[in-house]
Amino acid sequence: MAGAVQILQGSLKGEGKDYYATLRREMDARKIPISLGKNCPVMCTFCYESEHSYRIVEDIPKTGQEDWEYILSYINKIPSKPGEYWVWGGNEYMVWTDLFLHPKAMDWLEDFLTYTDKNVTIFTVGFVHVPRIHKLAEKYKKRISFELSVNTLSRHRDALMPNGPTVKQVLKILDGPAVTSADFYSFGTTTMSADALTISKINKECVLWMGCLTPLRGMDDRTVELIRQGKKALPEEAQSIYDYNLSNKTTIHTEAYITAFLNRRIIVKTFDSLGLEKRDTLVVSKSIYKVLTMYRKKRARYLYIPNATLGGDTDCTALLTLADIQGRITNEKEIYIPKCIIEGGRGKYRDICGTDLEDFRANTRCRVKVIPKINTKFANRQLIKNGDLDNYVEDYIYNPNSKIFEDIPLPEIN
Ligand code: SF4
Repeated sequence: MAGAVQILQGSLKGEGKDYYATLRREMDARKIPISLGKNCPVMCTFCYESEHSYRIVEDIPKTGQEDWEYILSYINKIPSKPGEYWVWGGNEYMVWTDLFLHPKAMDWLEDFLTYTDKNVTIFTVGFVHVPRIHKLAEKYKKRISFELSVNTLSRHRDALMPNGPTVKQVLKILDGPAVTSADFYSFGTTTMSADALTISKINKECVLWMGCLTPLRGMDDRTVELIRQGKKALPEEAQSIYDYNLSNKTTIHTEAYITAFLNRRIIVKTFDSLGLEKRDTLVVSKSIYKVLTMYRKKRARYLYIPNATLGGDTDCTALLTLADIQGRITNEKEIYIPKCIIEGGRGKYRDICGTDLEDFRANTRCRVKVIPKINTKFANRQLIKNGDLDNYVEDYIYNPNSKIFEDIPLPEIN
Protein backbone atom coordinates (compact mmCIF):
# COMPACT_ATOMS: atom_id res chain seq x y z
CA MET A 1 0.00 0.00 0.00
CA ALA A 2 2.78 2.45 0.88
CA GLY A 3 4.21 1.97 -2.61
CA ALA A 4 1.00 3.31 -4.17
CA VAL A 5 1.21 6.54 -2.27
CA GLN A 6 2.60 9.65 -3.85
CA ILE A 7 5.02 11.23 -1.39
CA LEU A 8 5.09 15.01 -1.32
CA GLN A 9 8.72 16.03 -1.34
CA GLY A 10 8.40 18.67 1.33
CA SER A 11 11.46 20.25 2.78
CA LEU A 12 13.01 19.62 6.15
CA LYS A 13 14.85 22.92 5.73
CA GLY A 14 13.02 24.47 8.66
CA GLU A 15 14.48 21.84 10.98
CA GLY A 16 16.24 24.70 12.74
CA LYS A 17 13.14 26.74 13.72
CA ASP A 18 13.02 26.67 17.50
CA TYR A 19 9.37 25.57 17.79
CA TYR A 20 9.95 22.61 15.46
CA ALA A 21 11.25 20.60 18.42
CA THR A 22 7.73 20.84 19.91
CA LEU A 23 6.15 19.84 16.60
CA ARG A 24 8.44 16.81 16.45
CA ARG A 25 7.51 15.76 19.98
CA GLU A 26 3.84 15.89 19.02
CA MET A 27 4.47 13.97 15.81
CA ASP A 28 6.52 11.33 17.64
CA ALA A 29 3.34 10.82 19.70
CA ARG A 30 1.32 10.55 16.44
CA LYS A 31 -0.24 14.02 16.54
CA ILE A 32 -0.49 16.32 13.49
CA PRO A 33 0.61 19.60 15.09
CA ILE A 34 -1.19 22.32 13.17
CA SER A 35 -1.62 25.55 15.10
CA LEU A 36 -4.06 28.45 14.93
CA GLY A 37 -1.41 30.56 16.67
CA LYS A 38 -3.85 31.60 19.38
CA ASN A 39 -6.27 30.16 21.89
CA CYS A 40 -9.48 28.70 20.58
CA PRO A 41 -11.86 31.51 19.61
CA VAL A 42 -14.98 29.34 20.05
CA MET A 43 -14.77 29.85 23.81
CA CYS A 44 -17.09 27.05 24.92
CA THR A 45 -17.75 27.63 28.60
CA PHE A 46 -17.15 23.92 29.37
CA CYS A 47 -13.84 23.74 27.49
CA TYR A 48 -11.35 21.46 29.26
CA GLU A 49 -8.58 23.62 27.79
CA SER A 50 -9.69 26.86 29.42
CA GLU A 51 -7.64 25.86 32.47
CA HIS A 52 -4.45 24.11 31.44
CA SER A 53 -2.11 25.59 34.03
CA TYR A 54 -1.27 22.06 35.23
CA ARG A 55 0.86 21.49 32.11
CA ILE A 56 3.28 23.69 30.21
CA VAL A 57 2.14 24.42 26.67
CA GLU A 58 4.29 26.06 24.01
CA ASP A 59 3.30 29.15 22.10
CA ILE A 60 3.39 27.87 18.53
CA PRO A 61 2.88 30.40 15.72
CA LYS A 62 0.08 29.93 13.22
CA THR A 63 1.06 27.14 10.86
CA GLY A 64 2.14 28.32 7.41
CA GLN A 65 2.70 26.40 4.18
CA GLU A 66 6.41 25.92 4.86
CA ASP A 67 5.62 24.52 8.34
CA TRP A 68 3.04 22.21 6.84
CA GLU A 69 5.48 20.81 4.28
CA TYR A 70 7.93 20.19 7.09
CA ILE A 71 5.22 18.45 9.13
CA LEU A 72 4.17 16.26 6.21
CA SER A 73 7.74 15.27 5.38
CA TYR A 74 8.47 14.40 8.99
CA ILE A 75 5.28 12.35 9.25
CA ASN A 76 6.20 10.46 6.12
CA LYS A 77 9.50 9.40 7.67
CA ILE A 78 7.63 7.61 10.46
CA PRO A 79 6.68 4.05 9.45
CA SER A 80 2.95 3.38 9.21
CA LYS A 81 1.34 0.76 11.39
CA PRO A 82 -1.90 -0.98 10.43
CA GLY A 83 -4.81 0.30 12.48
CA GLU A 84 -2.89 3.32 13.77
CA TYR A 85 -4.67 6.69 13.70
CA TRP A 86 -2.94 10.07 13.83
CA VAL A 87 -4.67 12.81 15.82
CA TRP A 88 -5.49 16.03 13.99
CA GLY A 89 -3.83 18.62 16.23
CA GLY A 90 -1.21 18.58 18.92
CA ASN A 91 -2.62 18.23 22.37
CA GLU A 92 0.21 17.40 24.75
CA TYR A 93 2.65 20.29 24.28
CA MET A 94 0.28 22.67 22.45
CA VAL A 95 -3.09 24.22 23.23
CA TRP A 96 -6.08 22.33 21.87
CA THR A 97 -8.29 24.28 19.43
CA ASP A 98 -10.79 23.60 16.66
CA LEU A 99 -8.26 23.41 13.84
CA PHE A 100 -10.84 23.64 11.10
CA LEU A 101 -10.88 27.36 11.83
CA HIS A 102 -7.49 27.45 10.08
CA PRO A 103 -8.18 28.53 6.47
CA LYS A 104 -5.83 25.85 5.10
CA ALA A 105 -7.07 22.98 7.28
CA MET A 106 -9.19 21.27 4.62
CA ASP A 107 -6.37 21.45 2.05
CA TRP A 108 -3.90 20.01 4.51
CA LEU A 109 -6.26 17.25 5.55
CA GLU A 110 -6.53 16.32 1.89
CA ASP A 111 -2.70 16.45 1.57
CA PHE A 112 -2.39 14.13 4.54
CA LEU A 113 -4.76 11.63 2.96
CA THR A 114 -3.17 11.94 -0.49
CA TYR A 115 0.51 12.00 0.39
CA THR A 116 0.60 9.52 3.27
CA ASP A 117 -0.95 6.11 3.72
CA LYS A 118 -1.85 6.85 7.33
CA ASN A 119 -5.24 7.16 9.03
CA VAL A 120 -6.43 10.23 10.86
CA THR A 121 -8.78 11.04 13.72
CA ILE A 122 -10.29 14.50 13.44
CA PHE A 123 -12.22 16.44 16.06
CA THR A 124 -14.28 19.54 15.45
CA VAL A 125 -17.30 21.30 16.85
CA GLY A 126 -18.38 21.79 13.27
CA PHE A 127 -16.14 24.14 11.31
CA VAL A 128 -15.33 21.64 8.55
CA HIS A 129 -16.31 22.45 4.98
CA VAL A 130 -19.39 20.29 4.52
CA PRO A 131 -19.32 19.09 0.88
CA ARG A 132 -15.54 18.61 1.01
CA ILE A 133 -15.50 16.50 4.16
CA HIS A 134 -18.18 14.20 2.76
CA LYS A 135 -16.23 13.86 -0.50
CA LEU A 136 -13.03 13.04 1.38
CA ALA A 137 -14.89 10.46 3.47
CA GLU A 138 -16.16 8.80 0.27
CA LYS A 139 -12.77 8.85 -1.39
CA TYR A 140 -10.71 7.72 1.62
CA LYS A 141 -13.10 5.22 3.13
CA LYS A 142 -12.13 4.01 6.59
CA ARG A 143 -9.09 6.29 6.80
CA ILE A 144 -10.89 9.11 8.61
CA SER A 145 -12.30 8.71 12.07
CA PHE A 146 -14.42 11.82 12.47
CA GLU A 147 -15.56 12.67 15.97
CA LEU A 148 -18.06 15.50 15.76
CA SER A 149 -18.37 17.36 19.04
CA VAL A 150 -22.03 18.28 18.85
CA ASN A 151 -22.03 18.89 22.62
CA THR A 152 -25.67 19.92 22.67
CA LEU A 153 -28.38 20.98 20.25
CA SER A 154 -30.62 21.91 23.17
CA ARG A 155 -31.90 25.21 24.54
CA HIS A 156 -28.58 25.56 26.41
CA ARG A 157 -26.39 25.60 23.30
CA ASP A 158 -26.05 29.38 22.89
CA ALA A 159 -25.02 29.87 26.50
CA LEU A 160 -22.50 27.03 26.45
CA MET A 161 -21.06 27.64 22.98
CA PRO A 162 -21.36 31.39 22.36
CA ASN A 163 -19.23 31.25 19.20
CA GLY A 164 -20.10 27.74 18.11
CA PRO A 165 -21.39 26.81 14.65
CA THR A 166 -25.14 26.91 14.08
CA VAL A 167 -27.32 23.87 14.69
CA LYS A 168 -28.11 23.95 10.94
CA GLN A 169 -24.41 23.57 10.10
CA VAL A 170 -24.00 20.70 12.57
CA LEU A 171 -26.99 18.85 11.11
CA LYS A 172 -25.59 19.28 7.58
CA ILE A 173 -22.33 17.67 8.67
CA LEU A 174 -24.24 14.76 10.15
CA ASP A 175 -26.14 14.26 6.91
CA GLY A 176 -23.64 12.23 4.90
CA PRO A 177 -20.91 9.61 5.19
CA ALA A 178 -18.29 11.64 7.08
CA VAL A 179 -19.14 11.48 10.77
CA THR A 180 -18.01 8.34 12.60
CA SER A 181 -19.19 9.36 16.04
CA ALA A 182 -21.16 12.28 17.44
CA ASP A 183 -20.68 13.27 21.06
CA PHE A 184 -23.28 15.13 23.05
CA TYR A 185 -24.24 15.40 26.67
CA SER A 186 -27.00 15.65 29.21
CA PHE A 187 -27.68 19.12 30.59
CA GLY A 188 -31.10 18.33 32.07
CA THR A 189 -34.33 16.70 30.98
CA THR A 190 -34.97 16.38 27.23
CA THR A 191 -31.48 17.45 26.23
CA MET A 192 -29.36 14.39 25.45
CA SER A 193 -32.40 12.24 24.65
CA ALA A 194 -33.86 14.82 22.24
CA ASP A 195 -30.45 15.19 20.57
CA ALA A 196 -30.13 11.42 20.20
CA LEU A 197 -33.45 11.29 18.36
CA THR A 198 -32.59 14.22 16.09
CA ILE A 199 -29.13 12.89 15.23
CA SER A 200 -30.31 9.34 14.68
CA LYS A 201 -33.02 10.51 12.27
CA ILE A 202 -30.33 12.13 10.10
CA ASN A 203 -27.51 9.63 10.52
CA LYS A 204 -28.25 6.01 11.39
CA GLU A 205 -24.63 4.88 11.22
CA CYS A 206 -22.61 7.11 13.51
CA VAL A 207 -21.90 6.08 17.08
CA LEU A 208 -23.76 8.19 19.64
CA TRP A 209 -21.21 8.99 22.33
CA MET A 210 -23.06 10.37 25.34
CA GLY A 211 -22.91 11.08 29.06
CA CYS A 212 -22.08 14.24 30.97
CA LEU A 213 -19.26 16.72 30.95
CA THR A 214 -17.13 17.11 34.07
CA PRO A 215 -16.99 20.36 36.00
CA LEU A 216 -13.35 21.43 36.23
CA ARG A 217 -11.57 24.14 38.11
CA GLY A 218 -12.04 27.49 36.39
CA MET A 219 -15.49 26.88 34.88
CA ASP A 220 -18.12 29.50 35.67
CA ASP A 221 -20.91 28.72 38.15
CA ARG A 222 -23.68 28.58 35.55
CA THR A 223 -21.82 26.00 33.47
CA VAL A 224 -21.07 23.87 36.52
CA GLU A 225 -24.73 24.07 37.51
CA LEU A 226 -25.86 22.96 34.03
CA ILE A 227 -23.40 20.07 33.97
CA ARG A 228 -24.53 18.88 37.42
CA GLN A 229 -28.17 19.24 36.38
CA GLY A 230 -27.30 17.01 33.41
CA LYS A 231 -25.79 14.43 35.68
CA LYS A 232 -28.94 14.32 37.80
CA ALA A 233 -31.07 13.80 34.70
CA LEU A 234 -28.74 11.18 33.19
CA PRO A 235 -30.64 8.02 34.26
CA GLU A 236 -33.92 9.37 32.95
CA GLU A 237 -32.32 10.62 29.73
CA ALA A 238 -30.56 7.29 29.18
CA GLN A 239 -33.78 5.37 29.87
CA SER A 240 -35.60 7.37 27.17
CA ILE A 241 -32.88 6.61 24.63
CA TYR A 242 -32.94 2.93 25.63
CA ASP A 243 -36.70 2.89 24.96
CA TYR A 244 -36.23 4.53 21.53
CA ASN A 245 -34.21 1.45 20.49
CA LEU A 246 -32.21 3.41 17.92
CA SER A 247 -30.23 1.69 15.18
CA ASN A 248 -27.07 3.63 16.09
CA LYS A 249 -24.57 2.22 18.56
CA THR A 250 -25.21 4.11 21.79
CA THR A 251 -22.45 4.53 24.36
CA ILE A 252 -22.04 6.20 27.70
CA HIS A 253 -18.32 6.40 28.23
CA THR A 254 -17.85 9.63 30.09
CA GLU A 255 -18.95 8.76 33.60
CA ALA A 256 -16.16 7.37 35.78
CA TYR A 257 -18.45 6.06 38.51
CA ILE A 258 -20.62 4.21 35.97
CA THR A 259 -17.60 2.81 34.13
CA ALA A 260 -16.05 1.66 37.42
CA PHE A 261 -19.24 -0.05 38.58
CA LEU A 262 -19.88 -1.73 35.21
CA ASN A 263 -16.30 -2.98 35.29
CA ARG A 264 -16.42 -4.11 38.93
CA ARG A 265 -15.71 -7.75 38.11
CA ILE A 266 -12.54 -7.06 36.15
CA ILE A 267 -11.42 -4.48 38.74
CA VAL A 268 -11.82 -7.04 41.53
CA LYS A 269 -10.21 -9.81 39.46
CA THR A 270 -7.24 -7.58 38.65
CA PHE A 271 -6.93 -6.56 42.29
CA ASP A 272 -6.96 -10.22 43.38
CA SER A 273 -4.22 -11.05 40.89
CA LEU A 274 -1.89 -8.45 42.46
CA GLY A 275 -1.45 -10.55 45.59
CA LEU A 276 -1.39 -7.51 47.88
CA GLU A 277 -1.33 -7.96 51.64
CA LYS A 278 -3.63 -6.13 54.09
CA ARG A 279 -0.92 -3.67 55.06
CA ASP A 280 0.06 -2.81 51.48
CA THR A 281 -0.97 0.67 50.35
CA LEU A 282 -2.68 0.95 46.98
CA VAL A 283 -3.26 4.36 45.35
CA VAL A 284 -6.86 4.64 44.11
CA SER A 285 -9.16 7.30 42.69
CA LYS A 286 -12.68 7.88 43.98
CA SER A 287 -14.72 5.27 42.11
CA ILE A 288 -12.06 2.57 42.36
CA TYR A 289 -11.94 3.22 46.12
CA LYS A 290 -15.68 2.58 46.25
CA VAL A 291 -15.54 -0.62 44.17
CA LEU A 292 -12.74 -2.11 46.28
CA THR A 293 -14.36 -1.04 49.54
CA MET A 294 -17.60 -2.65 48.43
CA TYR A 295 -16.19 -5.94 47.17
CA ARG A 296 -12.77 -6.34 48.83
CA LYS A 297 -13.12 -4.44 52.08
CA LYS A 298 -9.84 -4.09 54.02
CA ARG A 299 -7.95 -6.53 51.78
CA ALA A 300 -5.33 -3.81 51.38
CA ARG A 301 -5.01 -0.23 52.50
CA TYR A 302 -6.73 1.91 49.86
CA LEU A 303 -5.18 5.36 49.73
CA TYR A 304 -7.92 7.48 48.18
CA ILE A 305 -6.43 10.33 46.15
CA PRO A 306 -8.74 13.11 44.92
CA ASN A 307 -7.92 14.59 41.49
CA ALA A 308 -6.83 17.82 43.18
CA THR A 309 -4.78 19.09 40.22
CA LEU A 310 -7.65 19.05 37.77
CA GLY A 311 -10.12 19.90 40.49
CA GLY A 312 -13.88 20.16 39.98
CA ASP A 313 -15.61 16.78 39.91
CA THR A 314 -12.81 14.85 38.19
CA ASP A 315 -12.64 11.19 39.17
CA CYS A 316 -10.05 9.34 37.14
CA THR A 317 -7.00 7.27 38.00
CA ALA A 318 -5.18 8.01 34.74
CA LEU A 319 -5.55 11.76 35.40
CA LEU A 320 -4.15 11.62 38.93
CA THR A 321 -0.87 13.49 39.23
CA LEU A 322 2.18 12.69 41.30
CA ALA A 323 1.55 16.00 43.13
CA ASP A 324 -1.95 14.76 44.03
CA ILE A 325 -0.38 11.63 45.52
CA GLN A 326 2.37 13.56 47.25
CA GLY A 327 -0.28 15.72 48.92
CA ARG A 328 -1.77 12.62 50.53
CA ILE A 329 1.41 10.89 51.65
CA THR A 330 1.89 10.97 55.42
CA ASN A 331 3.80 8.05 56.99
CA GLU A 332 3.76 5.67 54.03
CA LYS A 333 7.12 4.05 53.32
CA GLU A 334 5.92 2.21 50.25
CA ILE A 335 2.97 2.60 47.90
CA TYR A 336 1.63 0.75 44.86
CA ILE A 337 0.57 2.92 41.94
CA PRO A 338 -1.18 1.97 38.67
CA LYS A 339 1.08 2.46 35.67
CA CYS A 340 -1.49 4.60 33.81
CA ILE A 341 -0.65 7.52 36.15
CA ILE A 342 2.86 7.73 34.74
CA GLU A 343 1.78 7.33 31.14
CA GLY A 344 0.57 10.91 30.98
CA GLY A 345 1.78 11.49 27.42
CA ARG A 346 4.64 13.84 28.29
CA GLY A 347 7.43 11.29 28.29
CA LYS A 348 8.22 7.95 29.88
CA TYR A 349 7.36 7.63 33.59
CA ARG A 350 5.78 11.08 33.67
CA ASP A 351 2.28 12.11 34.75
CA ILE A 352 -0.03 14.48 32.84
CA CYS A 353 1.91 17.48 34.21
CA GLY A 354 5.21 16.06 33.01
CA THR A 355 6.48 15.32 36.52
CA ASP A 356 8.98 12.48 36.61
CA LEU A 357 8.49 9.49 38.88
CA GLU A 358 12.12 9.76 40.03
CA ASP A 359 11.51 13.33 41.27
CA PHE A 360 8.48 12.10 43.16
CA ARG A 361 10.56 9.35 44.77
CA ALA A 362 13.24 11.84 45.77
CA ASN A 363 10.71 14.34 47.17
CA THR A 364 8.70 11.88 49.22
CA ARG A 365 11.38 9.31 50.10
CA CYS A 366 8.65 6.79 49.57
CA ARG A 367 9.26 3.52 47.70
CA VAL A 368 6.96 3.25 44.70
CA LYS A 369 5.92 -0.02 43.17
CA VAL A 370 4.39 0.48 39.74
CA ILE A 371 1.63 -1.96 38.75
CA PRO A 372 2.32 -2.59 35.04
CA LYS A 373 -0.94 -4.37 34.25
CA ILE A 374 -3.08 -1.35 35.20
CA ASN A 375 -1.90 0.68 32.24
CA THR A 376 -3.61 3.09 29.85
CA LYS A 377 -4.35 0.37 27.30
CA PHE A 378 -6.07 -1.73 29.96
CA ALA A 379 -8.09 1.27 31.20
CA ASN A 380 -9.19 2.25 27.69
CA ARG A 381 -10.14 -1.33 26.86
CA GLN A 382 -12.46 -1.56 29.87
CA LEU A 383 -13.96 1.84 29.05
CA ILE A 384 -14.96 0.70 25.59
CA LYS A 385 -15.93 -2.86 26.53
CA ASN A 386 -18.72 -2.15 28.97
CA GLY A 387 -19.66 1.38 27.99
CA ASP A 388 -22.84 0.68 26.01
CA LEU A 389 -25.89 2.61 27.06
CA ASP A 390 -27.89 -0.64 27.27
CA ASN A 391 -25.39 -1.94 29.77
CA TYR A 392 -25.78 1.21 31.85
CA VAL A 393 -29.55 0.90 31.93
CA GLU A 394 -29.64 -2.84 32.59
CA ASP A 395 -26.66 -3.25 34.93
CA TYR A 396 -26.58 0.13 36.66
CA ILE A 397 -29.97 1.83 36.72
CA TYR A 398 -31.85 -1.44 37.30
CA ASN A 399 -29.23 -2.81 39.71
CA PRO A 400 -29.98 -2.08 43.42
CA ASN A 401 -26.27 -2.51 44.23
CA SER A 402 -25.44 0.62 42.26
CA LYS A 403 -27.21 2.68 44.91
CA ILE A 404 -25.16 1.00 47.66
CA PHE A 405 -22.03 1.71 45.60
CA GLU A 406 -22.95 5.39 45.20
CA ASP A 407 -23.56 5.76 48.94
CA ILE A 408 -20.19 4.38 50.07
CA PRO A 409 -18.57 7.23 52.01
CA LEU A 410 -15.13 8.49 51.10
CA PRO A 411 -12.44 8.93 53.76
CA GLU A 412 -12.17 12.39 55.31
CA ILE A 413 -9.39 14.45 53.80
CA ASN A 414 -7.70 17.01 56.03
S1 SF4 B 1 -14.14 24.30 20.21
FE1 SF4 B 1 -13.13 22.76 21.47
S2 SF4 B 1 -11.15 23.66 21.98
FE2 SF4 B 1 -12.48 25.33 21.25
S3 SF4 B 1 -13.37 26.22 23.08
FE3 SF4 B 1 -14.81 24.68 22.30
S4 SF4 B 1 -14.28 22.81 23.40
FE4 SF4 B 1 -12.56 24.20 23.63
